[in-house]
Amino acid sequence: MFASLRSREANMSLRDELRVPKSGDFDLGSIDPESSPGLPKIKGKHTHKDWARAQLAEIGAELAGMQEQLFATAKVGGSQQRVVLVLQAMDCGGKDGTVKKVAGTMNPGGLSITGFGKPTPEELAHDFLWRIRKAVPPPGQVGVFNRSQYEDVLVARVHNLVPREVWEARYDQINVFEAELAATGVTMIKVMLHISKAEQAERLAERLDDPTKYWKYNPGDIDERGFWDDYQAAYVAALSKCSTEAAPWYVVPANRKWYRDWAVATLLRDTMADLDLSYPPATFDIEVERKRLAKA
Ligand code: ATP
Ligand code: MG
Repeated sequence: MFASLRSREANMSLRDELRVPKSGDFDLGSIDPESSPGLPKIKGKHTHKDWARAQLAEIGAELAGMQEQLFATAKVGGSQQRVVLVLQAMDCGGKDGTVKKVAGTMNPGGLSITGFGKPTPEELAHDFLWRIRKAVPPPGQVGVFNRSQYEDVLVARVHNLVPREVWEARYDQINVFEAELAATGVTMIKVMLHISKAEQAERLAERLDDPTKYWKYNPGDIDERGFWDDYQAAYVAALSKCSTEAAPWYVVPANRKWYRDWAVATLLRDTMADLDLSYPPATFDIEVERKRLAKA
């Protein structure tokens, strides 16, 4: 339907466009959650939404192919490579929908999806990175973190769950941790799904209006909504202090779900493309095996 538009060419710079700069001022407030950066010009009667949805199917197929190559290379060649997609967002920000639409394009056998909720007593008895380390996928897998180590500088900071000096030290600890992971073959890509306060209100209202969504409604989200500005400030600190070469942060405007899914899929696809994956060569003599098969 959109054969004339080559997705890779069109999206070459999406990572550059959405990446949080490594240094300098970062102004989350200037990023419009309603916007949709990086889309090509669409001719004819199709809308950007049609285009993005069609592209998502194609990008999904690419992701599935690359994930299989990642898996195969680890299995046959002993490669240590793996990928972790970190998703963070305000409540109702669309983390679950993104997991379904983006990660859902890949083979579940090569995926590990971990949600990080309120720490259990056992988790609290350890260092905050303990549960994160345990969830790092083995070589060959794509991991998705639904919330992450960043909760310990977001909710923990907003609600003073630990003293200031403790959460202040965590930014550096996270950077060291992520650099260590990178050195062991982990490619980490971190995405904040950026919704507006008005959009959150709409999504909360939808949950109250639809009996099939009551289960998603958490009365506590209304309390957290009262801390909106504190959370935005905590996000600015986390994203600007921890967007590194080894593990960059991206902000994806997420009021429009079709844009959000396309953008996250594109960021992940372009990141995985950099790994130059391919299928491993045969570790056996193909002709010999053909002959053996013919006789078997
Ligand atoms: P949804 O957005 O669909 O409601 P969710 O990710 O909010 O899903 P919940 O189980 O409702 O899932 O919430 C998880 C809660 O756990 C969040 O309120 C989050 O802030 C909290 N949490 C996660 N990590 C930590 C942490 N390290 N310390 C304290 N609270 C945490
Ligand atoms: Mg919740």
